[in-house]
Amino acid sequence: MTNKFYITTAILYTNGPPHIGFALELLQADVLARYNRLIGNDVWFLTGTDEHGTTVVRAAEKNKKTPQQLADQVAGQVIDLAKKLNISNDDLIRTSDKARHWPAVVKFWNKLVESGDLYKKKYSGLYCVGHESFMKKSDLVNGVCPLHKTEPEKVEEENWFFKLTKYKKDVKRKIEAGELKIVPESRLQEILNLIDDAEDVSFSRPSSSLKWGIPVPDDPDQTMYVWADALTNYISALGYGQDDAKSKIKNSKFDRFWPADIHLIGKDILRFHALYWPAMLLSAGLPLPKAINVHGFITVEGEKMSKTIGNVIDPFVVIEKYGSETTRYFLLREIPSTEDGDFSYKKLEERYNGDLANGLGNLVQRVATLVENNLGGELIYRRITNYELRIMNYEKAIQEFRLHDALGEVWKVIVEANKYVDGRKPWVEAQESPERFLETMTVLVGLIHHIAWLLQPFLPETAQKIAEVFGDDLLSKGIPENYKFIIKKGAGLFPRLK
Ligand SMILES: [Zn+2]
Repeated sequence: MTNKFYITTAILYTNGPPHIGFALELLQADVLARYNRLIGNDVWFLTGTDEHGTTVVRAAEKNKKTPQQLADQVAGQVIDLAKKLNISNDDLIRTSDKARHWPAVVKFWNKLVESGDLYKKKYSGLYCVGHESFMKKSDLVNGVCPLHKTEPEKVEEENWFFKLTKYKKDVKRKIEAGELKIVPESRLQEILNLIDDAEDVSFSRPSSSLKWGIPVPDDPDQTMYVWADALTNYISALGYGQDDAKSKIKNSKFDRFWPADIHLIGKDILRFHALYWPAMLLSAGLPLPKAINVHGFITVEGEKMSKTIGNVIDPFVVIEKYGSETTRYFLLREIPSTEDGDFSYKKLEERYNGDLANGLGNLVQRVATLVENNLGGELIYRRITNYELRIMNYEKAIQEFRLHDALGEVWKVIVEANKYVDGRKPWVEAQESPERFLETMTVLVGLIHHIAWLLQPFLPETAQKIAEVFGDDLLSKGIPENYKFIIKKGAGLFPRLK
């Protein structure tokens, strides 16, 4: 049965180039999108850029650019990164897109107004420019923002507020009931712990202090704050707010794909996705996303990545040096999907030499060589053993958003297959017992076929290359009896690093 599957990443803030954490998020979403396509689902995969706000304006000034020019540049880098990482996104939405994004935001805002959930209030508070948000005294450490190390500004102004308090109980109930699934469990607890204390949220700022953004409808002295402006990308990209003027088109993208099946986000924006956004959707009368998958941060050799320390990993540099497939493999295998993980070039090279060159590459190369040298490169498949490949753990791991474990399952098969080669010694069998040799090769070719199938969501190019070596144009899990593999060893998948 075909199900629809709509997955989104968070949208990258365009105050700087995409970092390695965003590359990881793109990759995780890509695996889920590719896996769902592989099992026959109707997939829509969205990424995008969050382009408004004072931080973007300041970053642009520093670079002697307009905010739009900087946003264009960063959006271009995101497109480039997605291409270099072989990301299979179907769309990319930009919040400065006045044709696609703004009409949806305006419509959405008006829905909240109609529900009586936006009200104007004088507000005074401590504003952290780095955060672009008000902070509580209790958030500060020694009077400064613990993240930005700056003293927040005392600000008094009139803003639009959203009645989050009206919806927080409903949101909590839906999370507790699993209607809105939060993965992993630790993040579920985190969000449940903070919902009760949540207050109404500032949804706009005076245009005098926030110029670069979407004007509040019918109140041009106010600019929308990030929540209504950015979170709405998940529906604007599907055409929400676009089809009102025309006759209702059935099967529009919004009807087909909303609600999202998974919003994939970093742990720093959990509150906004698991509380603000669902409350906003309830106010607008729209269904809630089904799940929010939360990943951790990447540290570098045990340290937090920061511009000040100067240890920021540029994904473009990694891809340039090691290639897209190795970058994909390392990030997806080494960083636990829902936890913090560590990046180091040393570990990357160890994984490359151990898992990719000596593990997968070696297996494929020696089996292909043996078949080519002893069977003239041809193998007719017969089901001769009771060897059943177990992929339940692999599927379960993907469904539970443990992508590193899913890859671990594939590598168990690779290790097992290499051990099988060592144990059977097919180079001896080829001389002494051609029948036994054929059996060994049949088992191994069958295993490699499955490995390639399982690798498709993770290492699509490698899976394709393996399929080419084995003349394997099967798109299914199983191999029909008497299927003829025509095997030509290639140049090798992963040459050892020098
Ligand atoms: Zn701050």
